[in-house]
Amino acid sequence: MNTDFSRRNFFRIAAAAGAATAIPILTEPQLARAARQHPVGEMTPGSVRIDANENPLGPSTGARATITNLIPESCRYDFDLTQKLSNTFAAMEGLKPEYVVAYAGSSEPLHYTVLAFTSKDRSYVTGDPGYEAGMFAAKMNGAPIQKVPLTSDYAHDVRAMLASDPNAGVFYIANPNNPSGTTTKREDIDYLLANKPAGSVLLLDEAYIHFSDETPSLDLVKADKDVILLRTFSKIYGMAGLRCGLAIARPDLLQKLQTYGQNPLPILAVAAATTSLQEADLVAQRRKINSDTRDAVFAWLTANNYKFIPSETNFFMLDAGRPGNDVIAAMAQREIYIGRVWPIMPNWVRITVGTPEEMRKFQVAWKETMDSPAMAFRDKSDSIRMARIGSGDLPPMAAQGVQGL
Ligand code: PLP
Repeated sequence: MNTDFSRRNFFRIAAAAGAATAIPILTEPQLARAARQHPVGEMTPGSVRIDANENPLGPSTGARATITNLIPESCRYDFDLTQKLSNTFAAMEGLKPEYVVAYAGSSEPLHYTVLAFTSKDRSYVTGDPGYEAGMFAAKMNGAPIQKVPLTSDYAHDVRAMLASDPNAGVFYIANPNNPSGTTTKREDIDYLLANKPAGSVLLLDEAYIHFSDETPSLDLVKADKDVILLRTFSKIYGMAGLRCGLAIARPDLLQKLQTYGQNPLPILAVAAATTSLQEADLVAQRRKINSDTRDAVFAWLTANNYKFIPSETNFFMLDAGRPGNDVIAAMAQREIYIGRVWPIMPNWVRITVGTPEEMRKFQVAWKETMDSPAMAFRDKSDSIRMARIGSGDLPPMAAQGVQGL
């Protein structure tokens, strides 16, 4: 064995591992928590949590049975179960197994893609309003961030995205988009791919694809395009707290993410994810449960003249007609925790679709809040938030998120 070579290799791997441990992964619940007008740990059991795009249905019956049966095996490092998940997904979707890598949620590969493909010379391009996590990764990487406003019908403006930096590194499209819940047409995605700079990637985030009628874009990966596609088990499959997601791409692209490391995955999460994939009617059933509840809320909002963006997902943007942060605070006083505000739409808040019962409580609180004079809760929300940032109650990156990127 060439010891010099081995030592060099060891130090290189150790350096990469050291770098990996320093990467903070910012996720939706941290951003939701940052916007929450409530100290952590003090929520009452009856409070309504519709601020983090979670799925109140939780894991499917089959996934729960898998978890229960596997608990005694939790003493094992079982890498085969992770491989089984990738293999199952690949077989179902007609992909080669090496095109699928499982992670503890899709947030990890999202961050790693941004770190791998942006630099100070190659920017991160995203829709606005858009899911913020990738912007934090870009900032960490010293990469410029191009926030490109969505079109008037809340799709990604791919032409403006391309024009924002002729040397961009990553184009991020969440389809459907968080927070608008709207979709970007396939022809626009194709246009972006056909015209993007060489060496850049399209980071296509399909976290919410199962809730919508939009056709998934896995065929782009099959066609070996420069696409890294993300899926998660946090949303339709109701497993946000278990942590499981997939990065799906050409092996040479996935290889670039491996630089940032990968811990062994929790076996209960990967086994439950595999079971969920195998439940034939699960996605269709859950899509219908979500859209029935969402449509009932939309009917009520319409009847009461409240303005919202017609979303295809398990969340939607709602116009408060006054600073959204004030309304978040007022709703929190009624123990209804609604989603955050995006700087480009300061009077709008994001609402996650909960259970029918939760949405009835939300409607009562929303009407009461909207019927109160705007000044009644003005200023209070900002002072609570600033006090929390000052007290270190929030993760520093999420605190930055509150103040807007
Ligand atoms: N992508 C989008 C658009 C999201 O909204 C979220 C979370 O809400 C994620 C990715 C990350 O989800 P997770 O890490 O739980 O898979």
